[in-house]
Amino acid sequence: MTIYFAIVDGDPISSGGHVHVFESNEWIEGPDGRRRAVAYLGDKAWCEACQTWGIIVPLSRVPNHLRTHHHKRGYQAVSDDGVVCKCESMPQVLAVYGRREQMRDTTDATSVANQAQALSRDIYDERFILADHDGKPLPGIRYRVRIGSNVVASGVTDAGGCTHRINTEDARRLILEIGGGT
Ligand SMILES: [Zn+2]
Repeated sequence: MTIYFAIVDGDPISSGGHVHVFESNEWIEGPDGRRRAVAYLGDKAWCEACQTWGIIVPLSRVPNHLRTHHHKRGYQAVSDDGVVCKCESMPQVLAVYGRREQMRDTTDATSVANQAQALSRDIYDERFILADHDGKPLPGIRYRVRIGSNVVASGVTDAGGCTHRINTEDARRLILEIGGGT
């Protein structure tokens, strides 16, 4: 299982420099309380190493069905996506400010196509496990799970850092929000 995070305006890239979102459609509130625009594939990042504007490209292994899709902007950028600039080794975008929006990849890379087909019929029984950077579970964290703007589950993580199980017919767009309101 891998957890990916949304990339937003101002997030750093691994070569130095930052993501710049010039067209804002959606916003995520950061740990500092500031709302920042969600970055999409094709958005720009300034690379300090080669001093050029790079373009965010899909490099992360997160499948498209876990990315938010906007009718004009396409798929959102997520942690570990790449930046095509003039650098020899491709820098990656680093999720700092958009970490409230997580995507959990439970699919095996080799079976993504099969999974995508199955997604349309299966009832999903999903839960999230919250862990810190060292993989230590985080109990007692308030969370909400939503599909689009509909909240489908909320509560507090248990001793193992687990959310409740969520039964849904649409596992493609489960979005986990941490903290915030009740
Ligand atoms: Zn560069």
